[in-house]
Amino acid sequence: MAEILVLVDHVDGAVRKTTLELLTLARRAGEPAAVFLGSGYDAARETLGTYGAAKVYVVEAPEFEQYLVVPKAEALAQIARSSGAAGVLLTSTPEGKEIAARLAVKLGSGIITDAVDVAADLTTTQSVFAGEYTVTAQVTTGAPVITVKPNAVTPEAADGTDGTDGTEEKVTVAFSDAATKARIVDRKPRAATGRPELTEASIVVSGGRGTGGDFAPVEALADALGAAVGASRAAVDSGWYPHAYQIGQTGKTVSPQLYLAAGISGAIQHLAGMQTSKTIVVVNKDPEAPVFALADFGVVGDLRTVLPQATAEIGKRTG
Ligand code: FAD
Repeated sequence: MAEILVLVDHVDGAVRKTTLELLTLARRAGEPAAVFLGSGYDAARETLGTYGAAKVYVVEAPEFEQYLVVPKAEALAQIARSSGAAGVLLTSTPEGKEIAARLAVKLGSGIITDAVDVAADLTTTQSVFAGEYTVTAQVTTGAPVITVKPNAVTPEAADGTDGTDGTEEKVTVAFSDAATKARIVDRKPRAATGRPELTEASIVVSGGRGTGGDFAPVEALADALGAAVGASRAAVDSGWYPHAYQIGQTGKTVSPQLYLAAGISGAIQHLAGMQTSKTIVVVNKDPEAPVFALADFGVVGDLRTVLPQATAEIGKRTG
């Protein structure tokens, strides 16, 4: 069976959930083979095996931490060529998409970005124009390079493996001069919030202009649900919440199991970043707010009353 390469997204070996989603999709199309670049492989080994990576290509090179994405694209291209992989899956993050683009050029392959589903024959589904259209597409040249949006599928552990029966291959890559042209000079982690990463979270609670600048009720509900916090551009532009949490056309795209929009009107640019969420709950004091058109459940009311009530109720149920 042909290998489907999955680029592992990790921090020092802590594998992000998005990689498990890619492995779940890769199992439909062939034999999943993970590509682990950087340090910390020992911490990742069992997780990758559990989610079906029959093989892991490991490249441990300091270049991945020292330089921008070019070393990663070069390593992945070398492995894709030598393994004769039938396709490559990456996560639709800014970094994943940049690596994918460079990889597709190196392989002479077609590329599809922001897929929300990948079928057994590597046909992809994309949701475009703020969800107005669903596009089904297939790469016709070379091994398809596909980036998949986080939360596109629910990660499922592979049957019949305890995660330890896969093989691994250490790979050495001779990087080109071009790979070391842009060096990382500083790295500052964002202050830890204790909340899940926005694009990975299975629940997102977002606040808009309707918060009036007070995100405390939004954050309290998010914490009760174990959710990430998001914001509309109006809230971000007003300086109420950092841009890193903006959802929409000029912010992040999320596709959680549950999206709660509080005090957000539902402008098309906001919907573009969240309309593939599985269940959408709206809290808005205006019954005519356009966001209700997208809602699975809606509450007409003041978020300053409704959110604390919901938080208290969840607190009672979860003890
Ligand atoms: P508003 O539209 O002002 O809506 C506030 C809502 O809160 C109203 O529906 C109101 O009824 C409700 N409300 C008020 N008080 C309460 C209360 N106490 N309780 C409950 N409800 C209350 N926007 C984004 O979000 N993300 C983007 O990435 C983005 N990109 C853009 C790119 C471009 C090129 C452009 C032109 C615009 C972009 N926008 C984006 C802006 C977008 O058009 C809207 O202006 C913005 O989404 C509005 O944010 P909002 O819903 O929070 O505010």
